[in-house]
Amino acid sequence: MVAQLSIVTEWFPEQMEPGSIFVLQNAGEVGEQDDPYWAVLACPECGTLGLITRRQFRGLIPVICGSNVCPTQFVIEDERVVPKRPN
Ligand SMILES: [Zn+2]
Repeated sequence: MVAQLSIVTEWFPEQMEPGSIFVLQNAGEVGEQDDPYWAVLACPECGTLGLITRRQFRGLIPVICGSNVCPTQFVIEDERVVPKRPN
């Protein structure tokens, strides 16, 4: 698992490597009003792309990989990936 997120500023899905994060152009406008979608993150373990919310981006709640075969859970802290044990 990569330990550091790398922010990409242009959306090229094929260039999203594990740990790449792309902040949505309409961040904050889609999803729940109190916790809208914020970015697309490639799982730092397996690279599966998933949407994360503002609270996940700010490290308030953990990110869980969307892949059925990847149990990765982690918290984002200042663009670092802090692994979290599954409950
Ligand atoms: Zn994963």
